[in-house]
Parts: sequence; C-alpha cells; structure tokens
Amino acid sequence: MADPTVDGERFRRRFDEFSDIGATENGGVNRPSLSDENKAARDTVVEWFREAGLAVTVDEMGNIFGRRAGANPDADPVLFGSHVDSQYNGGRYDGVVGVLGALEAVEALNDADVTTDRPLEVVAWSNEEGVRFQPDMLGSGVFCDQFDLEYAYEREDKDGKRFGEELERIGYKGDAPCEPRDLHCYFEMHVEQGPFLEQEGLPVAAVEGVFGFSWMNVTFEGQANHAGPTPMDMRHDAFVATADVTRSVRRLTATEGTDLVGTVGSVDVWPNAINVIPETVEFTVDFRSYDDAVVDAAVEQIQREIAHAAEREGLEYEFEEIMRVDADPFDQSCIDTVVDAAETVGCEYTRLVSGAGHDANYLNKIAPTSMIFVPSVDGISHRESEFTEWEDIVTGTEVLLEAVRSKAAE
Ligand SMILES: [Zn+2]
Repeated sequence: MADPTVDGERFRRRFDEFSDIGATENGGVNRPSLSDENKAARDTVVEWFREAGLAVTVDEMGNIFGRRAGANPDADPVLFGSHVDSQYNGGRYDGVVGVLGALEAVEALNDADVTTDRPLEVVAWSNEEGVRFQPDMLGSGVFCDQFDLEYAYEREDKDGKRFGEELERIGYKGDAPCEPRDLHCYFEMHVEQGPFLEQEGLPVAAVEGVFGFSWMNVTFEGQANHAGPTPMDMRHDAFVATADVTRSVRRLTATEGTDLVGTVGSVDVWPNAINVIPETVEFTVDFRSYDDAVVDAAVEQIQREIAHAAEREGLEYEFEEIMRVDADPFDQSCIDTVVDAAETVGCEYTRLVSGAGHDANYLNKIAPTSMIFVPSVDGISHRESEFTEWEDIVTGTEVLLEAVRSKAAE
C-alpha cells in the first residue's frame, strides 16, 4: 500500500477555482456569511466533498460535514476543517486553506486506498468571520453549546435581515441537530494572520493555544464650547483625555517581558465638529495576552490612567469591561501530535500561540483540539492582499494529513 501523498497541483487547481467565487478586482474574495457568494462557495464545497466520496450532512446552523467511514464505524471521529465565509473584500486564504486542505488530505487517503480505524469528518463552519452577523464563530459556537440556536437565528445584519431567514434563503438550514457530540479530537489548519512564521522562514507552527483578552468601553464626558473664544485653561476636552489613554495603552504594551498587545480601535466623538471642543468621547480598549495575569494587570492599570486623564481634564467618566475571555491552551496530546506530524513530514516547524480567535477555540471546549498555522506574507489578513506561498500550504496540509492519520489510529 502506497503512503498517502498530498497532490499539490490538484489542490492548487481547486483552490484557484474556489478563489473565483466572489472574486474581487484586487485579488481577494467577497463572500460574507449567507450571501449569494457564500452559497456558491458552500455549493462547491458540498459538490467536492461528495466527489471525494464523503457523506455530506448540513446541520441546523448550516455547518457542513463530510464523513469518511472508518474501519471501526462506532469509534468517535477525528474532525478537521475551518470556514469558507469571508470578510467584506477579504483574502482568499483565511479559512479556505483549512477546508480545502482537509479535503485534499481525504483525497490523498482515497488515492492510497487507506481506511483509517476511526471515521474522519471534514467540516466547513458557518459564520466564522462575524462581519455580517455578530458574534463571530457562531456556527461552531452553537455546535459547542456556547450559544442557543434561537439566539443565533435572531442575529440581524445591518439591513435587519435575520441569520435564520438568510440561512433558509440560501438553502443551508439543515436537519442535523447542531449540538455537541462525541469527537475524538479536532484539528484546524489556518493562516497565521501574523508575521512570525514568515519572519522566521518557517512553513508551519503547532498552535499551543489562543490569547485571552479583555474588551472595555470607556466614555469621557466634558464640555462642548467654541473652539475660538474658550481659553485653553478653561477646557474640558474629552478627546484630549482619550488621546492620553490611547498613549497609555501603547506604553503598557511596551513593558518588557510581556506578550501584551493593546488597541484603541473604535472612537466616537461628539459633536465631532471642527470648531467645537469635544464634549463626549466613547471608545474601546482591547488587551490580549497568553498570560491572564498580564491582562488583569493591564486592565487595572488602564483604569488608573483613565481616572488620571479625567482628573487632568476635569471630566466625568464611565468604564465598563464588556467581555473577558481567559487564555485558552489547546490539548497537549493534540499539540504533540502536530509536532510529531511535522517531524514525520520532515519540515521545519515551531510552536506558536494565536493572537486571534478561531472555531478551534470553541471546539477545544468539547474535544481535544490543536491547530496548524501556515505563514501569512507580511502578516496581512482580512484584506485582499492576503497571501501565503503555495508550497507552505502544501506542507501544512501534509502535516494535517499526518496528524489526522495518527489520531485516527488511536
Ligand atoms: Zn479564519
């Protein structure tokens, strides 16, 4: 029996064809969740899954599963995949490499006529990006019992269209229950979305876990007044305080020896006029680290900085932490399996922690989980210019194949 081999050219042909679905002028794709383009991408996934001999089921959330029988039909399956929805004018690689890479791994097993002990299941999750319907990772979130199905169906896009109705419109409201079931483990290959692998010149990383984070809303309340006659020492400028806090966020992240990252990403200013002193500013702060204590300390510190900035400028303020998620270490056995797979493939690799959330986070709550990262050139993602060298995707897929085979033999 021949060893299963990834066919980089077949995979490439499929990837290029897939990239035509919702293609944008600048080389990206526009396939937001439950759009007509997302339906076309789903149709293609289903067609290709079936061509590869997979038994396709669609669940109530529109998650698409393709099952390949194992020698032991009652064993818990090894699940692997990612998502095919995109950002508005997003990149071709985000999510897609994980789904089509999973399919290619199945094709390699088919070519070599290998039957694994455990059944294998390939998956394309619904609504990972959270750009049209919030929150993100909604399909895997319901599957892993983090959200109710009804809550998911009621999510609305900016035009008031509901997730449940749009899912039905594109024909992907399936019958299979979307709920946790017994899985042997879950793997997801994904583009890194950061610069590390490319900087190090490495093709793959075994992902050890995902950063924890805190999201905060802050409001400064000052006094609007004319930008001309109001003396500088009589101002209560909500935006000056916001700028001070933004600078403090940057300073905190520069603390030596921590992996803390921090962002002020959303700022609303009232009245937002050229000749009026800003009266009210609402803004957000996002802190992330793999060390929960580091996030806690940053949240405490930034609260002090907010109080100081308000005092200096003579403002009222409100502070609220709206979301706090602890760091999420993946399963050690699955991480080791990815590392061993990289050794077997004979490629260079490293271990990484992810700064971004993935469907794998939710899967990690119900099954042993790890991820495989492949490089993002210039660390760019969620943009049309997102790019990964094809040979790295092939290497990542070889590692995925090995990891799946080894877990399917347990
Ligand atoms: Zn993604």
